[in-house]
Amino acid sequence: MRYMPGTLRKPLYAVTIGMTLSSCTILQPDSPPKGSGKIILTFDDGPTPASERLLDVLKKHHVKATFCYVGANVVKYPKTARRAYAEGHTISNHTQNHRRPFLLPSPLDQDIQQADTTLRQALDDPEFETTFFRPPYGLKTPAVLLSHEASARRTAYLTFFIDDSSTGQGNAKRVMERIKKTLLHRHGGAIVLHEMRYPSPQPSKEWLPDAVDDLIIWAKANGMAFTQY
Ligand SMILES: [Zn+2]
Repeated sequence: MRYMPGTLRKPLYAVTIGMTLSSCTILQPDSPPKGSGKIILTFDDGPTPASERLLDVLKKHHVKATFCYVGANVVKYPKTARRAYAEGHTISNHTQNHRRPFLLPSPLDQDIQQADTTLRQALDDPEFETTFFRPPYGLKTPAVLLSHEASARRTAYLTFFIDDSSTGQGNAKRVMERIKKTLLHRHGGAIVLHEMRYPSPQPSKEWLPDAVDDLIIWAKANGMAFTQY
């Protein structure tokens, strides 16, 4: 089955819910690539030991993604971050410590700056600066809205959110089917998958590289393509 452009009109309640989510979260339901038949792939909270296999899959299919890395994990796996960058993926700032930034912008500003410092060291590039930011938990809290560092970067938004952060091997297929169904329904979108659940790396995400392999094959078979922000 190939994707066909839809003509559904949104009911008022859907517009209202969409506007509320857009103001409090990084959800931007009507932003590109929605409706274009294209998919933006983003991966949160890595790198992890499974990241190399994920990069192998993306390389095999010539697909570029956005990695929203946690600085504390980049410290553990700097070579993986260096490889992702060298292979043309976008590296987004997802803070150093993935704290919940609520009211005060200054701790968040420091956390964003520290993540960029970590990335400069890992990538061995003193000039490197992230141009994208994804707040921890995808929330646009007062701290995020007031943060100079957050405002200086583009938001690594999502066009819809199906939470896979707690998804283990047992329910991976079901969650991926929901993502596929929504991609078909919305004719593309910017989606997130989690390389791990930070700071508690449970459940195991060993299933992720194979699931992404399957998703890419499925998307291409359905006439969809991959793009970046
Ligand atoms: Zn995260």
